Amino acid sequence: MVGLTQYRSCAPERVTAFVGLGANLGDAAEALHAAIKAFDDIPLTQVRAVSSFYRSQPIDSSGPDYLNAVAELQTALTAPALLCHLQAIEQRAGRERPYRNAPRTLDLDLLLFGSARIDSPALTVPHPRMAQRAFVLQPLAEIAPGRVTPAELDAVAAQAIVRVKNS
Ligand code: AMP
Repeated sequence: MVGLTQYRSCAPERVTAFVGLGANLGDAAEALHAAIKAFDDIPLTQVRAVSSFYRSQPIDSSGPDYLNAVAELQTALTAPALLCHLQAIEQRAGRERPYRNAPRTLDLDLLLFGSARIDSPALTVPHPRMAQRAFVLQPLAEIAPGRVTPAELDAVAAQAIVRVKNS
């Protein structure tokens, strides 16, 4: 008779990942809601928490105001596999990349993947620009206060960002 604890060690390791969502074309709120719903269909992955939505003016981009949020996922996928699913969701939302930082129907960034540090051609984690962006740090701090320091929040405090109702 094999004990349950022995089986548990065979289960895939589950990692807490944080995903940044952003949209500034079309119905941005609808795009974020649809993406969060689509996260539930990613294999071996559950949505654990979703921040409020936050509105801000484009920083390195153009067009209408952005709507951003951060979701906490628990996943047994690898980081590249999770990114692949996130990119498929972007594609299904009609994402086009006519030029760098173009306005977008949906942008999904893998911000954190457990405590992993990844630096490959296709994937950098922690996301290299997250520390410069209030629209990432504020929603992340809302759902995972332990992952953002007061000094990091202070550093982006001058960026105008408004928390909005997300339903
Ligand atoms: P973007 O235009 O912001 O959607 O950038 C997408 C590109 O960034 C893709 O080629 C990804 O492979 C790459 N990339 C590198 N690191 C990340 C990350 N942490 N999250 C999302 N995309 C990433």
